[in-house]
Amino acid sequence: MTDLHFQCRCGAVKGVAHDAGGSMGIRVVCYCADCQALAHFLNCEDEYLDAAGGSDIYQTSPSRLEITEGVDRLQCVVVGREARLHRFYASCCNTPLANTIPGRKLPFAGTQVRNYDPARREDVFGAPKSAVFTDYAHGEPVTKKKIATPFLVLDLMRRAALEWMSGKSKKNVFLDAEDNGSVTPQILTADERSRLDARAAENARNRMARA
Ligand SMILES: [Zn+2]
Ligand SMILES: [Zn+2]
Repeated sequence: MTDLHFQCRCGAVKGVAHDAGGSMGIRVVCYCADCQALAHFLNCEDEYLDAAGGSDIYQTSPSRLEITEGVDRLQCVVVGREARLHRFYASCCNTPLANTIPGRKLPFAGTQVRNYDPARREDVFGAPKSAVFTDYAHGEPVTKKKIATPFLVLDLMRRAALEWMSGKSKKNVFLDAEDNGSVTPQILTADERSRLDARAAENARNRMARA
């Protein structure tokens, strides 16, 4: 059982991932437009996106995540046009924390590797297992490893099945007793989203000009 601590950039929100690493989670680098839009929404793109626009994500089950301090700082936003992930962040310092699938059916939380204990995270998580949504990358993804989407979905279903059978899916800091989000999400309008996409594109152009 490996406990790995994480925190927001200012330290007001602290938490721990229980049983981190191993087969109950996977580290991937996500290049999807929604993850990029989130970084721009929070104005943290310089720290949380790599040179090609990727987010370094450790995906696990919400039952393994605990917020130990500052839970009242959690805010939530929906940036996606299609995938309506609830994206939780720390409002104290606009740190992205966890991208979750709303409801209890599919226990899933994508957390930012960057927020975890820097002395231990590489050992616990290992190198990224796959780049995902590379069609949206601005240049070369940081890893050449690629697991096909159906296999990633199967792996998610395997973890979800274990959560259901063990009853652990009941434990989820991101849901309230009625299975609604623990925080009502802000839903971005199409205009707001378009502005974030424009910033992501401009950011990529500037980076390429500098390179
Ligand atoms: Zn903070
Ligand atoms: Zn993504």
